[in-house]
Amino acid sequence: MPDSLPLLAALVALLVGLIAGKAWERYKLHGGRWLDRRKLRQTPHYMLGLNFLGEGQVDRAIDELSRAASDGTDALELQMILGNLHRQKGQVGKAVSIHQALLQRQDLSRAEHAYLLLCLGLDYRGGGFVDRAREAFEDVLRLDPANRHALVNLAKLHEEQRQWTEALAARTTLGALRDADTVSDRQIEAFLHNEIGRAQAARGLDGPAARAFADAIERDARTAPAYLNLGDVRARAGDMPGAIDAWERLIAVVPERAHLAFDRLDDAYARAGAADRFRALCERLISEHPENWRARLALARHLRRRGLPGPSVELLFDALAQHPHGLALHQAIWQILAEADTDPALVRRYVTASRDAVFYLDPHVCVRCRYRSTELLWLCPQCHEWNTFVEERIAQGRDSSEAELAPPANPPPSSS
Ligand SMILES: [Zn+2]
Repeated sequence: MPDSLPLLAALVALLVGLIAGKAWERYKLHGGRWLDRRKLRQTPHYMLGLNFLGEGQVDRAIDELSRAASDGTDALELQMILGNLHRQKGQVGKAVSIHQALLQRQDLSRAEHAYLLLCLGLDYRGGGFVDRAREAFEDVLRLDPANRHALVNLAKLHEEQRQWTEALAARTTLGALRDADTVSDRQIEAFLHNEIGRAQAARGLDGPAARAFADAIERDARTAPAYLNLGDVRARAGDMPGAIDAWERLIAVVPERAHLAFDRLDDAYARAGAADRFRALCERLISEHPENWRARLALARHLRRRGLPGPSVELLFDALAQHPHGLALHQAIWQILAEADTDPALVRRYVTASRDAVFYLDPHVCVRCRYRSTELLWLCPQCHEWNTFVEERIAQGRDSSEAELAPPANPPPSSS
């Protein structure tokens, strides 16, 4: 087949050219020193190091990769990884000095330079050197304006420092790099607008604050705190109808967060001489969302204050069926039962209702997967680990909902 010979020759030439080009590139990349990858692969420490890395054994990986690095190769990526591993171990000083030394090299490509600066920024961030970390991430962005890692880290740094405007700028740039507007981008940007507004309101700048809260709602209509804050700013300016409008919009748009506006609305309606609007609001919410125990509790409190303990306690019994563990409900019932002229039949009803309601009489929880059970179990039905159950106690505290876990008698066996 003589016809195919020229084609074959051309292909071989192309391949040789590609290999030679690649090798030349690598030669240039390493300052005229050949990086002998075969040599790297022949040292057992390289393979062992990667193996330990894969198994998550960081100490042994560092050990082996350090030996591979000292076997006479100057592989840049090997050093980079070593630096990152030191950072992971909390050895920030070592990580910084490795990455700084690499940055001194004259043969770095733009991408390598940017990546090393990113590593250095992460080192500084890990060590708590906020300003140096910020400078490093900004340097990365000068070399590579579309570097997402640098943008995310920069945004988080600003958020930790409560520098909301700067954080928003980084988040906006990050969002613009994506093809589509994601829910999470919208949410974060909206919360940042809300924080900007809060900072302005705290300085008495109600006008700009109101605009920032409106921006938050425009960016993501489900930003619940922005409605509350917008209403508060309007109420402070004496615009009660505007405040009521903002709080009612919260309930319309984010009904599962409706209760956040209850106290404000109850008060605002009463001041406007329209206290019945609160009752109507709660009754509407209860009929639309029958599981809404918070609307029942709010209405019960409202009715009790208006001298109607009978309808109030009925609402609380209904709510208890929805949410048997709600201590706020039990307390509201006790308050009514403790009042002077309580019908003993009501007390009996409460005892019966709460006995049926409390289904975790002696709660236990799996420390692995947080599966809950009334009895102590030896094998968790959810994560299938042995002896992982501890007694669950609710931490004392005003509004802490975190459960406090009693330490297990024996540490759970490792699954690895
Ligand atoms: Zn479990």
